[in-house]
Amino acid sequence: MPEMPEVQAHAERLTAEFGGRRLKAFRPLTFTALKTASPAPESAYGQPLERVGRRGKFLLVTFESVTFVVHLMQGGRLLVDTKHSVKPRGGQARFLFERRPEDTLDPPGLLLTEQGTERRAGVWCLSTPTALTTPPLHTLGPEAYTVESGSITVETLAARVQAMPNTRVHGFLRDQHAVAGIGRRLANEVCHRAKLSPFAMTRKLSRDDLAVIVAAIDECAVEGLAEERKREDMSSSKDRPSHVHSRTGEACPVCGDTIRAVEYASYTVNYCPTCQTGGKVLADNVTSKFLK
Ligand SMILES: [Zn+2]
Repeated sequence: MPEMPEVQAHAERLTAEFGGRRLKAFRPLTFTALKTASPAPESAYGQPLERVGRRGKFLLVTFESVTFVVHLMQGGRLLVDTKHSVKPRGGQARFLFERRPEDTLDPPGLLLTEQGTERRAGVWCLSTPTALTTPPLHTLGPEAYTVESGSITVETLAARVQAMPNTRVHGFLRDQHAVAGIGRRLANEVCHRAKLSPFAMTRKLSRDDLAVIVAAIDECAVEGLAEERKREDMSSSKDRPSHVHSRTGEACPVCGDTIRAVEYASYTVNYCPTCQTGGKVLADNVTSKFLK
């Protein structure tokens, strides 16, 4: 799933390409694509796109009166659409823009697609002034990293640890209500950079541990953004930088130990025993179930 660096760089690309273009129409292509009944998308027709922003892993396509909040989930993409085909493959919704005098062809649109069968990507049309305090954005935690302010502070992270139930740090980092923008890949990478067990309990973390986590978030965010900004379109997961994520069985780039995995139904925790757990191999979830 695209995380902070991918969504942020994509928002920047789309702002550069579409900023100032006036919305001609917003068209859901499936019954489930538009998640809200009011305000009406039509209230933004004729208004120029102010920017495409980001909150957590959501893209915010912002006009003066309404903000279209787009969640890509696992297989969704918000693509620049020049073909305007009637039934685009995986098409969920499209934004059409007014023609400018300098446009020689039909102006490009934005097409939300979702491959696969999950059909969980979608668009919420929200009133711009209150968008951040309206579902689905209202319960998101503070940003793990923003371009404007950098990483979350140690103070804020400590407050989030206290505000949330005591849990494993890997799960805490992935919980969008705890901190926003980190997913499976970054949680693996941050724990490795911080040399912390992914299973360390959050309430046992010292102030120094939290400072190390913040520094790791910063490193991973800066590197991920730099990589992603070089691209013309959003990367696929195999192209994203990683030291441990999706590298089960490979050598740790820091110490050479073999990278291990704990498998869950919908994700894998990757870690290096030497760097992170004092050499201890964490219980493999799949194997453990058989032993019960
Ligand atoms: Zn290592």
